[in-house]
Amino acid sequence: MKPVYLDNNATTMSAPEVVAEMLPYLSEFYGNPSSMHSFGGRVGLRLKQARSDIAGTLGCQPDEIIFNSCGSEGDNTAILSALAAQPDKRHIVTTRVEHPAVLSLARHLEEKGYEVTYLGVDEKGRLDMAELGQAIRKDTAIVSIMYANNETGVIFPLPEIAALCKARGVLLHTDAVQAVGKIDIDLAKLPVSMLSLSGHKLHAPKGVGVLYVRKGTPFRPFLIGGHQERGRRAGTENAAGIIALAKAMTLAKEHMVAENTQVKALRDRLEAGILAAIPHSLVNGDTEHRLPNTSSIAFKFVEGEAILLMLDQYGICASSGSACTSGSLEPSHVLRAMGVPFTYAHGSIRFSLSRYTTDAEIDLVLEKLPGIIETLRRMSPFRDEEAAKPACTC
Ligand SMILES: *Cc1c(COP(=O)(O)O)cnc(C)c1O
Repeated sequence: MKPVYLDNNATTMSAPEVVAEMLPYLSEFYGNPSSMHSFGGRVGLRLKQARSDIAGTLGCQPDEIIFNSCGSEGDNTAILSALAAQPDKRHIVTTRVEHPAVLSLARHLEEKGYEVTYLGVDEKGRLDMAELGQAIRKDTAIVSIMYANNETGVIFPLPEIAALCKARGVLLHTDAVQAVGKIDIDLAKLPVSMLSLSGHKLHAPKGVGVLYVRKGTPFRPFLIGGHQERGRRAGTENAAGIIALAKAMTLAKEHMVAENTQVKALRDRLEAGILAAIPHSLVNGDTEHRLPNTSSIAFKFVEGEAILLMLDQYGICASSGSACTSGSLEPSHVLRAMGVPFTYAHGSIRFSLSRYTTDAEIDLVLEKLPGIIETLRRMSPFRDEEAAKPACTC
């Protein structure tokens, strides 16, 4: 049975057009793009085209693109490169709501003696720009702030953040893994130093990503070896993956407005339906500045994991806020940073839609979810007289 797949912020289905584009480079055209012979050279030429297509969708130069394996690699490379290239600067600024690819690295670097400032967010998941301004110091090597949050979909004001960092002369990296393909990004106008993105979050396959490095940014490679990517990232190119990524980014750019409108309408219908049918439920995060596909909803008095298991019985795939800390009973670090009350944070579910989401799928969730929450609340150890009160208006 086909799943009702509402977990697109975790990963996406490769688009059929994308798979079609890459397949010949997994079978027929397997040459090494660095080889002297024309069989490999042919792949090299196709990669050149892919690099130029991707640069076109981002508004940057082809040689500012470094292909790599994933978003985590881009995040790690950007931060480690900034530290290696500026050995006198030992301070990093980031936020408390970043992906573990940034946060776990930051903790690791603290253990190595670097200093990290973690900016907090308000109850809607928003940053305080004044706080960012105060956090930047003479010895700040890099500011790393995500474009859009994977759990709540909250979008940070990157144009403002970039302008501030530029004025203060500090490098800025943005983890744009959730933003690329959903938000129109023009690097000609957005003065970030580095940006990371990942193929599998935008309908390309897993195992390919990009780190954009603006011309003039000091850079030290993370993988050292062959001269691929102009000596900035060793390793034989994932040719099929890169070709797939170029196709996925071109498709996303072409259809962004139409898709966002359609996906947002489905997301809003899902959200409104849930809030109307289920008392003691609320949306986590700033609903005004939010990705069109993401909805994080908190249900008081229940466990997110229990909801997921019951949804799974109907083939519905969603995610709990604590996906990255699964196995522990700690609510997600993002919801904790927002100060979402414990009884709500534990029962938070993230639905993330895509252009492949259908009306019928939303109908199924709206049909099944109220019963699931009711069943779980009847068994809930957290249940008290408050649950019997009429729905709050929050
Ligand atoms: C998924 C994700 C990553 C990690 O990307 P991978 O390609 O899985 O390594 C980093 N940041 C954000 C915001 C993400 O959603």
